[in-house]
Amino acid sequence: MQPLLQASSVTKYFGGFTALDQINISVSKGERLGLIGPNGSGKTTFINCISGALRNDSGTIMFDGADISALPAHQRIRRGIARSFQIPKPFPSMTVRENLLIPSEFCSTGARSKDAQSPEEVLALIGLTEKVNETAKHLTQVELRKLELARAVAANPKLLISDEAMAGLSNAEVDDILDILFSLNARGITIIMIEHIMRAVMHFSERVVVLDAGHKIADDEPGRVAQDPRVQQAYFGD
Ligand code: ADP
Ligand code: MG
Repeated sequence: MQPLLQASSVTKYFGGFTALDQINISVSKGERLGLIGPNGSGKTTFINCISGALRNDSGTIMFDGADISALPAHQRIRRGIARSFQIPKPFPSMTVRENLLIPSEFCSTGARSKDAQSPEEVLALIGLTEKVNETAKHLTQVELRKLELARAVAANPKLLISDEAMAGLSNAEVDDILDILFSLNARGITIIMIEHIMRAVMHFSERVVVLDAGHKIADDEPGRVAQDPRVQQAYFGD
């Protein structure tokens, strides 16, 4: 079967620094992929290259059968790539509903494309319905993360990339976000989860890719990745 996403030899430099070195990652339709690695290993840079926030310096990114490497971010959103940001930046004085109506080209909060879903539909999926008229500045941390996911889901994505949606949350809140991501996946959305909370990423993912200093060092089922000496060295070695 043709993969939904296929990144081949994706390389990104920041000046003389190689943030991503010939990364090959492919994701099947409907898959739940975990993307982990120590801080600074290149996870966010990789998804910036996938979403179009950054352009890779070499390599190709195929999505749904087309080469999207040269497309601007808003065209990638239209093709079905949505991402949530590590640090939610809603418009604080606007309501949840209003935040979901803002085009994602303008900010990290709000996605509109021609197939966009209504705020009400999305909030029901995310379990945030009762907050529809709440101003964003009055949301709790977990509600802000849900708004961030809602914003990504509003674009009706084929691929949802969640960048550390669980950082700083309690165990119960982590489980809440996990349930949401599982239910979105059950509706057919392919998910890449970037997460530091190992319990969550190992539980959620069918396959886990590990980056270390811009290199892919593992790509396997969660149990085998956890046992991989290179992965243990990357996390705990010096
Ligand atoms: P991760 O998300 O895995 O923590 P990042 O992708 O954010 O890592 O960063 C990878 C490396 O690239 C880090 O060393 C970081 O300092 C560097 N980096 C990220 N973005 C930029 C940028 N815009 N300019 C220069 N260096 C950057
Ligand atoms: Mg990051």
